[in-house]
Amino acid sequence: MIIEEQGPRDGFQVEAIQIPTELKIKWIEDAVSAGVKRVQMSSFVHPKLVPQMADAEAVCAGVSKQSGVVYSGLVLNVKGVERAVKAGLTHVAISMSASDTHSRKNANKSLSEALVEFSEMAKIAKEAGLVVRAGIQCAFGCRYEGNISEEYVLELVKKHLDLGIDELSLADSTGMANPVQVKRIINQVVPLARNLPIFLHLHDTEGKGIANMLAAIDCGVNHFDTAFGGLGGCPFIKGATGNIATEDVVHCLEQMGYETHINNQKMIALAKEVEAFLGRKLPGKVKEVVSFD
Ligand code: MG
Repeated sequence: MIIEEQGPRDGFQVEAIQIPTELKIKWIEDAVSAGVKRVQMSSFVHPKLVPQMADAEAVCAGVSKQSGVVYSGLVLNVKGVERAVKAGLTHVAISMSASDTHSRKNANKSLSEALVEFSEMAKIAKEAGLVVRAGIQCAFGCRYEGNISEEYVLELVKKHLDLGIDELSLADSTGMANPVQVKRIINQVVPLARNLPIFLHLHDTEGKGIANMLAAIDCGVNHFDTAFGGLGGCPFIKGATGNIATEDVVHCLEQMGYETHINNQKMIALAKEVEAFLGRKLPGKVKEVVSFD
């Protein structure tokens, strides 16, 4: 199983307290030292809109890189790709929403405008030699629009694949997905994906995050985004809460006999350290009950 740690991006982006750059760097390095092989370090978005991510370049430059680890950044527009390339990233996550309302709020673009921008992002990133992960936000529902057309999500997947991207990601940004729906959609995406990795980005807003992960595993998915402590949310989605917690996911997968190669004692210690800094209980569950003493 491949876990992509997204605490430093999806987690920190909604935090009101400005987290010092050095601490972000330390926590990314701690996650890698716990065994995480993929980490989304930051996002290259407008610093006025998401002030917490204003130090994207400094974070990316400051992390001491380990071989065999994928260090990526999220971008939502061409400017972001250019910044990521300049920052020396070799892997970038480009992303757009399947919901018109969310797209307008999050990226200030209609769906058709977002698709044009997306193609341009993919082109620039590929020309720069980057590995590109293509993401679809709100793929399983939107807090503003309710249901999102599955046909449209599948159409986006096909369009993204035609751009020569390297990895796919489907995000339940709002935490509205359910296991039956996850299976239905993933079973249609798998044959399209031509053996490219499919990531599932799950939020636990309605308490179904782990259930949705298990449903996706049944369909052959083995790449998941998580965030230490269960941090996370979208600044532009009403009531959005955390991602499935890295340490909860590791705990569950290992119990089920899957290997994550992540040391959960270290992961839980990291979640607790972040929790102590932020000064409030984070939603991850196993850190409350699992002890390695
Ligand atoms: Mg998210």
